[in-house]
Amino acid sequence: MGATETSSPPFRSFAGHEKQSLLLTLDFAAPTTTNFHKVKLGDTQFAELPPNSKLTGTAPYHSYGQMTESQFPGWKDLARILAVSSFCSSAVIETVSEHCDFPRLAIKGVLFLEADENQQESAERIRKEAEFYGQHLREFQGKFVPKHYGLWHAPTSQWGGEVLIAVMEWGGMELGAFLRHKPKSATLAIRLRIVEALDELHDHGIYHTKIGKGQERHILCDPDGTSFRFVDFSDAVTGHDCRRMLPVRTFMSYPSQWKFGCPEAYCARECMLLFEAAVLHKDDVEKKLAFVKMQQFLDQGMSRKEALSAVGNLIDHWRTIPDIQTNRALHLALERKFNANAGLGSRH
Ligand SMILES: [Zn+2]
Repeated sequence: MGATETSSPPFRSFAGHEKQSLLLTLDFAAPTTTNFHKVKLGDTQFAELPPNSKLTGTAPYHSYGQMTESQFPGWKDLARILAVSSFCSSAVIETVSEHCDFPRLAIKGVLFLEADENQQESAERIRKEAEFYGQHLREFQGKFVPKHYGLWHAPTSQWGGEVLIAVMEWGGMELGAFLRHKPKSATLAIRLRIVEALDELHDHGIYHTKIGKGQERHILCDPDGTSFRFVDFSDAVTGHDCRRMLPVRTFMSYPSQWKFGCPEAYCARECMLLFEAAVLHKDDVEKKLAFVKMQQFLDQGMSRKEALSAVGNLIDHWRTIPDIQTNRALHLALERKFNANAGLGSRH
């Protein structure tokens, strides 16, 4: 958390605009093309869009779902009816052919900046998030965090008032839907990669704060399972000292959160279904041993990263031993039987 959090001015008093501008047409919602100017945000740097980009976006969607043309009364009426006028859209660049392979974009925006305090608060969150991207997530952008192309502002427009948008790389579908509807793409391999990526953010001190059960919308996955992106860093903080005690592996049971050592890294594993069975807070022998080894390695002066990697290697080795494999299979079979008898699902 920086000093900017309490001292920053409301959005509209920002210094002004950079030279760059872009043209945006949002399907039926604002059929006339609107010129947006890039917002000056101190020395925060963003990824670059091609010069004079012309973007065509989908119809807007809101927290309650996609709009159809017949439901859309115009921005002004919409704001009056719903008392909310933030929106999202996904867009493509329609400019010259050399940029035709430019990635699909996501736009999130806020309307009526000049008139509405709630909207100014939303804009402030978008600004804070943009700064976080520029200052702390640069090396992860395009890898497992979307590229951020900055904030863009239309001072007056046919959208009914001032509009602020954030232009970012499009990330894909929400994790919940991905796990439910794309079981072939949601392989163990990608689930492990997602957890590894979150661990990497933690190792850089970045704590997202909104990853876990019920917050699956903050992880987006490409429908074919080739890439994923963490999104919504509006409450993210830096300075996290990750104390997780287990490497990224599947486990037969849930470790205790307290022993595991990092709530968010734990929740990520839970979301990705890395804990296979439902006995809570009861460590199987393998996991007990992993905790003991981890502590030993740390006590010997290894860095946490080295210790986690060494414990991961040990676990991989244990799992090649036939007796342990038989034990694991037996344990899981007993557990399933117990849960079936007790009328429990496979999860608590
Ligand atoms: Zn952590």
